[in-house]
Amino acid sequence: MIDLRSDTVTKPSAGMLDFMMNTGVGDMVFGEDPAVNELEAMAADMFGMEAALYCPSGTMTNQIAINVHTRPGDEVICSHMAHIYLFEGGGVAFNSGASVALIQSENGTFSAEDVRQHINNPDDPHKAYTRLVEIENTVNRGAGACWDFNEMVRIRELCDQRHLGYHLDGARLFNALVKDGMKPEEYGTLFDSISICLSKGLGAPVGSLLIGNRDFIRQGARVRKLFGGAMRQAGYIAAAGIYALKNNVERLADDHRNAAAIAEALKQNSLTEKVNYGGTNIVIFTLRPGMKASDYLEKIRARGILALKTGERSIRMVTHLDVSDAQIREACDILATL
Ligand SMILES: *Cc1c(COP(=O)(O)O)cnc(C)c1O
Repeated sequence: MIDLRSDTVTKPSAGMLDFMMNTGVGDMVFGEDPAVNELEAMAADMFGMEAALYCPSGTMTNQIAINVHTRPGDEVICSHMAHIYLFEGGGVAFNSGASVALIQSENGTFSAEDVRQHINNPDDPHKAYTRLVEIENTVNRGAGACWDFNEMVRIRELCDQRHLGYHLDGARLFNALVKDGMKPEEYGTLFDSISICLSKGLGAPVGSLLIGNRDFIRQGARVRKLFGGAMRQAGYIAAAGIYALKNNVERLADDHRNAAAIAEALKQNSLTEKVNYGGTNIVIFTLRPGMKASDYLEKIRARGILALKTGERSIRMVTHLDVSDAQIREACDILATL
């Protein structure tokens, strides 16, 4: 099967497994796990930030960040497509008692002016306190769209003026970095907190990191404990993260090339109405009226391809390190002629 459902379906390579098995471990809660300590230091260093916190999932790193940034009753400004809003089980409300102000847009990116229009007047007792701006790069539901760096800088300036926190959900930040030829430290200077996933395109089986200044991460460690994410000999899985950051970043360019090929193949097929492709590893397309996503998925499954339904007539395909170039060529032939 050519599995294009998600870049989370990857399994550890032989090299990664070997590296995991040969790591030293200790009790992470006592601060004694050498691999976790190394991974956290490596991530903080990469981004030019003070500290990092190893967690089981990207949902947890985002939810910890929101919990540290806000108090109950506060409001978070984010996209209507945001993972924190759509795909974290209502965690903004459940975990932090906060609400969201949603910015509508085509691909999940927005402008500093959009943010300004969503900031509540703190002197108006009817209104929730606006406390945090959250953006996602790349945008999952925005077909892997990347943010314009200058717009992110303008939002930073606005957050400074209005005393708002600024969090980046960078589950797929490395895809954006590779596409735009940018360095992690350029992002480290911009955000108060950054969440990255090691278990998406980077190929680790588990793990995410929350990165920020020392005080933020100290508070985050308390919330990680509260959320049940304080693990013990986590070094075995943290080692996979170290291996992923060392070996699997540059190759994301291959996934982008493969996704571009998939997007082109889909455009050639008459069942396709519109293809959205943000230039990284995600393609989202709509089928022409009358064609149902569930029927289309059955058709391609019979030909050996798996994808994900994102709406009645829309489907997502994601490329990753466990689909080979040969499989992509095969998939393109099938998708173009289906
Ligand atoms: C996958 C993802 C996350 C985190 O997901 P987990 O499955 O909890 O690791 C967060 N944000 C975005 C944009 C994602 O795609």
